[in-house]
Amino acid sequence: MKIAIVGAGIVGVTTAWELVSDGHEVSVFERRGAAAEEASFANAGVLAPGYVTPWAAPGMRGKVLRSLLSSHGAIKLRWPLSSRDLSWMSRWQKACKLETYLANRARMQRLAFYSRTRLHAVTEARELSYERSDGYLVLLRSKREKKLVQPGLEVLRSAGSVFREIDADEARLIEPALNPDTPLAGAIHLPEDEVANCRQFALLLKWEAEALGAQFHFNCDIAPLSRAAPTSLTLASGSDALQFDAIVVCAGLSSATLLRPLGLRIPLAPVYGHSVSAPVREPLNAPRSAVMDERYKVAISRLGQRVRVAGSAEIGGSPDAMSPAAIQTLYKVLHDWFPGAATLQSGIQQWKGARPMLPDGPPVLGASGIPGVWLNLGHGSSGWALSCGSARVLGDLIGGQDPGIDLEGLGIERLSL
Ligand SMILES: Cc1cc2nc3c(=O)[nH]c(=O)nc-3n(C[C@H](O)[C@H](O)[C@H](O)COP(=O)(O)OP(=O)(O)OC[C@H]3O[C@@H](n4cnc5c(N)ncnc54)[C@H](O)[C@@H]3O)c2cc1C
Repeated sequence: MKIAIVGAGIVGVTTAWELVSDGHEVSVFERRGAAAEEASFANAGVLAPGYVTPWAAPGMRGKVLRSLLSSHGAIKLRWPLSSRDLSWMSRWQKACKLETYLANRARMQRLAFYSRTRLHAVTEARELSYERSDGYLVLLRSKREKKLVQPGLEVLRSAGSVFREIDADEARLIEPALNPDTPLAGAIHLPEDEVANCRQFALLLKWEAEALGAQFHFNCDIAPLSRAAPTSLTLASGSDALQFDAIVVCAGLSSATLLRPLGLRIPLAPVYGHSVSAPVREPLNAPRSAVMDERYKVAISRLGQRVRVAGSAEIGGSPDAMSPAAIQTLYKVLHDWFPGAATLQSGIQQWKGARPMLPDGPPVLGASGIPGVWLNLGHGSSGWALSCGSARVLGDLIGGQDPGIDLEGLGIERLSL
């Protein structure tokens, strides 16, 4: 089949790879000058399937309110809030019901474990190297946090994650550079989880897809799809229509705009986060893999010769204006745990990215209901962890094969409920 993909973030690139591997004629259209320039650019890189859960969870309302009142709180509301943000928040609150949360969590984790298997298979088959390290350590600063994390451990157990509750001494053996002056009550160690450079993987896999014949067209801003000819594409600036047998929309946050003329209302909203990446100054002072500070919800990742610290969740505000408070929290957490790990005088990259979030958590995969138009979007805070599995699912569905996992609740029909 002649297939077009809109968007070359991690989701579009993995989809291109799977479809071209299946023998399709694949063209990818991306408005930026390169792959992985938007949400997939500088994320935390964590691949921890047991921690892939919806942000719409029981008790979240209270957590959000407490966070709003704390100077280093992980979640913030910023002005202006659009009507889209407000309607998203109302749907999000409804999805916080226990029953809905449990169903969505099971859907996301099923996809995340499947995705990890697929990522490893692709990595091995193509011998890809993309700054990955094994192991994930969740740091618990106080006894209170150790207690609060217990329901989360039940989640890990039921998801089949391999993990151990360990004391501070053992945590310091796993990550010897952890600052001894910062109080640590204990940690959760997940030896099978990992951290890796999402953007680098996307760039490598793009080359692999190109080698198999996929064509990538950059600086091509695609206009919203048309109801009269849903499987043809034109540029937003105006151009002749290009006709395809199928279109896969992998345009992250902008997917909603692309699909609106087809009568599809996708409730996507940007939940902004920040990261700071800096060169390692002294490897002995740097993390070996990834740690997560449970109190501040900040991840510190080792990516090759760099340390990346990432976190914050902001609804509203502008996509370009960095939040000084969020950046300050990232530096604080980095200094708390790994002082002296990174060179902070030069070579620093500060980044703000928008998680393409659906209010209830899981992405939307599969047929759109419009013949020839397929969806792979809304991966929110876990797009890297879910990408390879989501892409394989699309490949199977388009090719008329049975997908490798149960897709209940991952289709567009759940959004109209
Ligand atoms: C601070 C932060 C930390 C994160 N940490 C993690 C993590 O540790 N683990 C994890 O799994 N996930 C993480 N995420 C989430 C992850 O980064 C996203 O879920 C993922 O990058 C989404 O990928 P995507 O391909 O759907 O979107 P994008 O990467 O945004 O790709 C969409 C692409 O579509 C293109 N596009 C849009 N409209 C058009 C158009 N009209 N024409 C042509 N092209 C178009 C865009 O330019 C873009 O390149 C994090 C996110 C943030 C912000």
